[in-house]
Amino acid sequence: MSFKDEVVLVTGSTRGIGLGVAQAFAQQGAKVIIIGTNEAKAREVAAQLAAQGLAAEGFGCDVTDLSSVQETVNKILDIHKRIDILVNNAGITRDNLLLRLDENDWDQVIKVNLKGTFNVTKIAGRVMLKARKGRIINIASVIGLTGNIGQANYAASKAGIIAFSKSAAKEFAQRNITVNCVAPGYIRTDMTAKVAEAVQAKVLEHIPLSRFGEASDVAGVCLFLASPAADYITGQTIVVDGGLTI
Ligand code: NDP
Repeated sequence: MSFKDEVVLVTGSTRGIGLGVAQAFAQQGAKVIIIGTNEAKAREVAAQLAAQGLAAEGFGCDVTDLSSVQETVNKILDIHKRIDILVNNAGITRDNLLLRLDENDWDQVIKVNLKGTFNVTKIAGRVMLKARKGRIINIASVIGLTGNIGQANYAASKAGIIAFSKSAAKEFAQRNITVNCVAPGYIRTDMTAKVAEAVQAKVLEHIPLSRFGEASDVAGVCLFLASPAADYITGQTIVVDGGLTI
């Protein structure tokens, strides 16, 4: 798959799944935009990719802040004049049992995961609508399909992303823009490193492919969804979980 000279914006790409996705696109010739709330880190990660001969720029951007998103998209357009592919990946967890779940933790998870996806889709989507071409890939989670103890906020945000993506797919289809979700299972990143070892062992017992996922497992599906091989797929959710939820 070649994405030569295509401009790919990946939110939350300073580490973890987002970084793996950005790296995979860059390795296929794309110009990738690295985004995180920590500007210095975003620049540093982009510089590391550039040192590997890959095309990358890094910007500090908080996806919860519409004006920060608009400023970042303006900077991308100044440099590249286009955004071909958007991967809405930025996401957080603030886990607790429902009755102990703090109101701020509910709000913050919905704000970053769901509102953040809306904000970037709205601003970058406008660029794609004008160009009459684009691919939007939203990183949901199997938790948005199954629910999970201690993750009511996160599950709601991810289920929201799936429903949001179906609506956006219907709205944008006429302009040759597809909108799909990837729903990862348990992927080894900083986010899952926080999970207690005993819980990790229990999860592993339920994964038929007998291993946790890697960022590259998610990246491969993103490349597929952004490629011409997926031209006729929109509004769908592809589960990448080693069989965890079957
Ligand atoms: P990490 O915690 O490793 O990385 C999260 C990334 O998001 C970082 O780059 C972080 O950068 C960025 N980020 C957080 N908040 C914001 C914000 N407000 N604006 C911009 N960027 C932000 O997470 P993962 O790589 O594990 O997860 C990535 C996505 O995949 C998330 O949406 C997550 O829900 C989803 N997912 C992960 C799974 C897993 O098992 N790991 C399973 C299913 C889904 P910074 O802190 O510098 O802002």
